[in-house]
Amino acid sequence: MKFAEIKGNAAACRALAGMVDSGRVPHAILFHEDDGGGGVALALAFLQYLYCKDKADGDSCGACAACNKISKLIHPDVHFIFPLVLSAGESVSEQYAKQWRELVISNPDFTETELYEALGFEGKNTVIGVKEANALLRKLSQYSLEGGYTSVLVYLPEKMNTTTANKLLKILEEPPQQTVFILVTHSPERLLPTISSRCQLVRVESSSPNDSLALRYDDGGLFASLMESLLDRNLSGALEVGEQLASLPSRDSAKAFCKFASEKMRRVFLVQQGLDSLAGDDPDAVSWAGRLRNTFPRKALEAFDRSSALIGRNVNLKILFTDLVGRLYSII
Ligand SMILES: [Zn+2]
Repeated sequence: MKFAEIKGNAAACRALAGMVDSGRVPHAILFHEDDGGGGVALALAFLQYLYCKDKADGDSCGACAACNKISKLIHPDVHFIFPLVLSAGESVSEQYAKQWRELVISNPDFTETELYEALGFEGKNTVIGVKEANALLRKLSQYSLEGGYTSVLVYLPEKMNTTTANKLLKILEEPPQQTVFILVTHSPERLLPTISSRCQLVRVESSSPNDSLALRYDDGGLFASLMESLLDRNLSGALEVGEQLASLPSRDSAKAFCKFASEKMRRVFLVQQGLDSLAGDDPDAVSWAGRLRNTFPRKALEAFDRSSALIGRNVNLKILFTDLVGRLYSII
């Protein structure tokens, strides 16, 4: 994958190429994508540029041996880790390399669900287990096979259990020379702040129609009205917004509102963590971050996720949004 093949994200591509050109490649880069937003594709374009032997005009050549191996996901110094269903004895991602390659090559903008379908894990609980971290530590203790960078791409690092996350943190605290960690996350707020603070942050702008949908249904600034009412401790005002939400034109639009609200809440969380660069230039998020207690965004995200799941299950929207407003009011 060359940068030229990436949809949108021109500034991110230039910034990533610039890191390589200047010789200042960070030890860890955190790509924040929306589900299906092409974070892995952008990460692979970066890796191909990093390893390419014949770079020109800020892009990889796409033809040299290194480019060839990266594009086929068979470079011996590039390792992939993703969530699995842990069976007895625990598996590691390497055992699923074939399915992973087929999916990423045929559909680089894959969603989390598409990955689990490809691996045969639909509807099951997935996690990045400690055996994965141990296997990785062994690989990192060896020299790179081709004498350059060793890279590790972790898809959905928020799925690491505590032991795995702490092992990764140890590595990030004292990273081996010429090693690059690439984390592709949907929920940066679920990572240990000690991990995200060690990463260079890249927001992957998604071209998915869902986003414009969410924005379209929030034309009237419903979310902003809801937040302002909550911050003023104005329960009846907040409940009024809840009623307006219940009469949105369709269930899809109600769901789109929840997605939009989650994205805003995530930005508030990132600003509160001092990770403003990942939050984009969002004056609302900055203002709310200063006025909301630090526990609010996480709890609110859970409430929006729960509501979004329930909307899909045909519950009465008026009851659902009244309940949502009540929950938000109780944690403000
Ligand atoms: Zn090349």
